[in-house]
Amino acid sequence: MSAGVAPNAVAAVSEGRLWQRLMEMGEIGGFEFEGGHKGVNRPCLSALDRTARRLLISWAEKMGASVTIDPAGNLFLRLEGEDPSLPAVLTGSHMDSQPQGGRFDGIYGVLAGLEAIEAIATAGIRPKRAIEVVAWTNEEGGRYAPGCTGSMSFTGFKPMSEFDDLVDRDGIRYADALAEQMEAESDLAKRPLGYAPHAYLEAHIEQGPRLEVERKEIGVVTGIQGSRWFTVTVEGRSDHAGTTPLALRRDAVQDMVRAIGALNQLMHDPDDVLRFTVASIKVEPDTSNSVANKAVFTIDFRHPDKAVLLARGDAIAGVVQAAMRSCTATVHERFHALPVDFAETATGAVAAAAQAQGLSSLALPSGAFHDAQFLVPVCPTGMIFIPCRGGVSHHPSEHAEPVACANGARVLAQALLSLANS
Ligand SMILES: [Zn+2]
Repeated sequence: MSAGVAPNAVAAVSEGRLWQRLMEMGEIGGFEFEGGHKGVNRPCLSALDRTARRLLISWAEKMGASVTIDPAGNLFLRLEGEDPSLPAVLTGSHMDSQPQGGRFDGIYGVLAGLEAIEAIATAGIRPKRAIEVVAWTNEEGGRYAPGCTGSMSFTGFKPMSEFDDLVDRDGIRYADALAEQMEAESDLAKRPLGYAPHAYLEAHIEQGPRLEVERKEIGVVTGIQGSRWFTVTVEGRSDHAGTTPLALRRDAVQDMVRAIGALNQLMHDPDDVLRFTVASIKVEPDTSNSVANKAVFTIDFRHPDKAVLLARGDAIAGVVQAAMRSCTATVHERFHALPVDFAETATGAVAAAAQAQGLSSLALPSGAFHDAQFLVPVCPTGMIFIPCRGGVSHHPSEHAEPVACANGARVLAQALLSLANS
């Protein structure tokens, strides 16, 4: 990228336009929430999703981007490059939300991408490579779990057919919801599934408190931490709470509490990098005057270091067994994702853009999943985080300041240009 060119594109990023669009999108599936907050409930592959996509398409067409969809329903907005035969630089995120979501998670990355290519076009710059903005299908997994089905299909991480038989709460199959969407958007130009982009960048709210707490304007995301999810089942015997002596009980709740206590010691981390969460507990028979014969709890364990993720995760079953006094326990691992590291090509472009614009930055891993992790095997991948209030996301009170949103779009515009000219 030549030094005389990028500043024009950066200057053409409009804080007002980006904010206006974020607020307009927030109305689609928007609802009033306590405390004066405005939430969003926009499930993937729904009529609301399609309304939001039509609005996005109208903005894209107005600025001269071409619009295509692939068989997985991923939507692409393309700013053509000097050499259309070169692999494009890809950016984007998702437009679906959690059932009680906010106005920034996902949609921010799509609109920041649109803002970036619109600014580049407005500045009269034609990059060497095309830049494409993608809205991935079903990132959140709110309607169809698991999420990231669009990006997994695109990169070949899983074949598309793998998701056909997922069903939502109303019993509607994923394949049928996708077919309905493809039918409703049959006027859009089709493209084949997948390609190897030159690079992929995703802008997103941090969904954590670090940027705000450390007063940094841009997060240069270094990778996505690994996760291991377990279900622990503790089985004992139900007895009368008023008559059975404690010494004779096989109380599943008491042994569960011992197990969680022991796990807290196993997972203790003075640096507070490790994330260990027990958040779903089911007890049977779940009455106040019967000793529980069964207690089931979940473990969500995450760490950016593969060695720690493997060592402590592998120790969970033994620690649980050792904590049992009168019950038996089984530990089932139901999900395992190793940490991914982003490429220097991508993270370097983000860091350089932030520095050139005089924005303070912090290198940090992502604690949450993103479509970006599935792009890692396919092309140099990176993410840009912007601060969000209190680190809150997946909630109607989720908020990012207009200036923070614009900062992220400016860094994205410059980083995309430098990658598209390389
Ligand atoms: Zn998201």
